[in-house]
Amino acid sequence: MSQQEKKGKIVVISGPSGVGKGTINSRLFEDPKLRLVYSVSMTTRKPRPGEVNGVNYFFASPEEFEQAVEKNELIEHANFIGNSYGTPRKPVIEQIHNGKNVVLEIEVEGATQVIKKEKNVLSIFLMPPSFYDLQSRIMSRGTEPDNIIKERLTKSLMEIPLKDNYQYVVVNDTVDNSVAKIKDILIKERLTDYHE
Ligand code: 5GP
Repeated sequence: MSQQEKKGKIVVISGPSGVGKGTINSRLFEDPKLRLVYSVSMTTRKPRPGEVNGVNYFFASPEEFEQAVEKNELIEHANFIGNSYGTPRKPVIEQIHNGKNVVLEIEVEGATQVIKKEKNVLSIFLMPPSFYDLQSRIMSRGTEPDNIIKERLTKSLMEIPLKDNYQYVVVNDTVDNSVAKIKDILIKERLTDYHE
């Protein structure tokens, strides 16, 4: 079957903030046989140093975000520690038709909406090996003040029990192991070019 004929899937990769979703995803994107593309989210959060509009996020005002919600332009959206985040629908649909697997690197509330509402979804929850591990990872990023770090960690305690909503749970002990495990899942689910 050609790339054009084969439809892709939505691949939800979720888990608490700081678990390592971004690091693992950037490694997965290095393998073209996985046919992965990244869904760029919309957010009302201010850019961090080095973040580029249209690459890391579409940075929007609260009014612009609200408009996108009202026009039903987002597949899912959620509030995360005072900011809104959402997945633009149009690029996801286009990429799936192009045979790509579209990675949604999102928090658990939005992920739950996608799992419930959309067909064609593969869902993976990335789990920190321990709370201590999550704490040291968020702190070592050095991008947030202490009160935000605290809020993100507190939120993770509510997020982790929701792992049961997902098809797969991957414990992020090392980046290499997690990349290998997720690759195996994608291959097993026949989403890649490894079987062609
Ligand atoms: P950050 O501010 O660290 O970039 O993201 C905060 C949280 O929001 C992370 O868990 C991140 O994965 C999640 N997130 C990013 N984009 C989206 C999105 O489009 N929808 C939802 N629901 N969460 C998102």
